[in-house]
Amino acid sequence: MSREPQIKGFAIRGLLKFVKESSYAGGIPSLLEKLPIDAQPFFRERILSSLWYPYAAFSALARTIESEMGAGDVALLEDIGRLSGRQDLGGIFRFITAILTVERVVNRSPAFWNRYCDSGELEVVESGQGRFTVRLKDFPKIDRAHCHMITGWIRGLGEGTGVKNFESRKVRCVHSGDSWCEYQGTWS
Ligand SMILES: [Zn+2]
Repeated sequence: MSREPQIKGFAIRGLLKFVKESSYAGGIPSLLEKLPIDAQPFFRERILSSLWYPYAAFSALARTIESEMGAGDVALLEDIGRLSGRQDLGGIFRFITAILTVERVVNRSPAFWNRYCDSGELEVVESGQGRFTVRLKDFPKIDRAHCHMITGWIRGLGEGTGVKNFESRKVRCVHSGDSWCEYQGTWS
């Protein structure tokens, strides 16, 4: 039997922060009531940034935010990812590299991934000359909502380094029948 994936508390806290700062009626408590029953117990106690939590709790929260607060497309998930990317750049990436260029952030992203999620390997396929490609392998259980958040997260990181016209997109996805998820960023 394969082990269930886990994710760090700071990813869950990032989602809760987004709800808290939004205009969602009733805030976090109201949103948590909309979670599937089996996901609710994880949120009864304070979520700590540095602890590992079941990935299923994170994805249930992301999907509930999407269904409660989204407009029926993936824009909200991408926006949440984008905000987290901005925050991570000033937080954890600032800690692992003082000079924030796109190339450095891309090259450090595999190490970041494994601090954040215990499943999957992020691999840099190409980096430089206005373009990079990263591949997320060995994570067949990645949630569809999470894939869209990662697209936004890459955009937040890229924009935060100050380059112009940064775009990110998902070019492959396990939810589209590919063997892995793959993301590209381009800038000018
Ligand atoms: Zn995907």
